[in-house]
Amino acid sequence: MPSLFSQAESNFLKACGLCRKKFSPEKNIYMYRGDQSFCSDDCRCRKILIDELREEIYLDEMNETATMELQTKETLLSSSTRLVTNVGIGLPPRRNRVEVAG
Ligand SMILES: [Zn+2]
Repeated sequence: MPSLFSQAESNFLKACGLCRKKFSPEKNIYMYRGDQSFCSDDCRCRKILIDELREEIYLDEMNETATMELQTKETLLSSSTRLVTNVGIGLPPRRNRVEVAG
């Protein structure tokens, strides 16, 4: 392991941001918004849907618990340093706020 990533990779690029499955080196990692990573395109799509739902929920204030859970997970994920190496990048169809490699 390169020492460059010793701290930064604590969560990011180790486990899927949705199902928490650990990534295997042979498989692609799917990025979303540049700081979230998923084991499959399916998980990433679900996360995108969840984000959209979360925004609706937030606006409606119908389900505070779900919103808080999601925000906590997002905080954990986004606190990791952004790094993109050896990643199968498929940009989401919209929401082009993805940042790749600085
Ligand atoms: Zn997954």
